[in-house]
Amino acid sequence: MQISSLRCERLKKSFDGIQALDGVSLQFAQSRITAIIGPNGAGKSTLLNVMTGFLKPDAGKCYVGDRETTLLAPHRIARLGLARTFQDLRLIFQVSAFDNVMMARANQHGETLLGALFRIAVAKEEAANREATLGLLDLVGLHEQIDEPAGKLSYGQQKLLSLACCLATEAKILWLDEPVAGVHPAMASKILALMRKLRDDGKLIVFIEHDISAVREVAESVVVMDHGRVKAQGAPEEVLGRHEVMEAYLA
Ligand code: ADP
Ligand code: MG
Repeated sequence: MQISSLRCERLKKSFDGIQALDGVSLQFAQSRITAIIGPNGAGKSTLLNVMTGFLKPDAGKCYVGDRETTLLAPHRIARLGLARTFQDLRLIFQVSAFDNVMMARANQHGETLLGALFRIAVAKEEAANREATLGLLDLVGLHEQIDEPAGKLSYGQQKLLSLACCLATEAKILWLDEPVAGVHPAMASKILALMRKLRDDGKLIVFIEHDISAVREVAESVVVMDHGRVKAQGAPEEVLGRHEVMEAYLA
């Protein structure tokens, strides 16, 4: 299958006079892991929200492959193969890990919660759907937690579950918001290994991360943002080695 590419041109977005994005142009390469770093308020989350359709830019354009996505609704962009995770994970804590993944599969159609629940009831009857969901939970290492309510899982397991939900959309492009923040080192290694595996399977992965050691470990490309602008980009050893970049980052 052809892998989609992802890019944006001269994106601008301001909030009450604050320029959250001030002319951001980026192109993300296929089968690669790109990290987006930068101090708090740099515009990283705004970029993610604009590129996934959750916010509309004031100016500029976004593309998934050849398709312009600038004004498309989030579920339409998801259908083109771009999925995201949320910092607050957005799992449904009362239902099982299994049902959360089933729900994510239904959600890509842009349904209401009730519609998604109905679809799950129907879809659960289908062996192929069950198999696919079990396969995803197995992939992220949650095969023993399938029946556990998401709210009972550890924070690291919840992050893995949100990744499984993201994969449930069958997206070729994954945009992850701080995938290892707040988890213990063993769990972080597990998540980073999973990201590498997904990259090897041909996914294009972009992630926002504060943990520089995690960035060094998996990123093949790094983008540094500050004050709504791209300050530096390139190979990690080159970008992270530059004194002024680290100073801006730590400011
Ligand atoms: P980062 O994710 O890099 O920490 P953000 O994209 O969240 O940065 O924020 C960039 C700037 O835009 C910050 O100054 C932030 O306060 C502002 N901002 C972001 N979202 C909103 C919003 N919904 N309303 C008002 N200001 C916002
Ligand atoms: Mg943020």
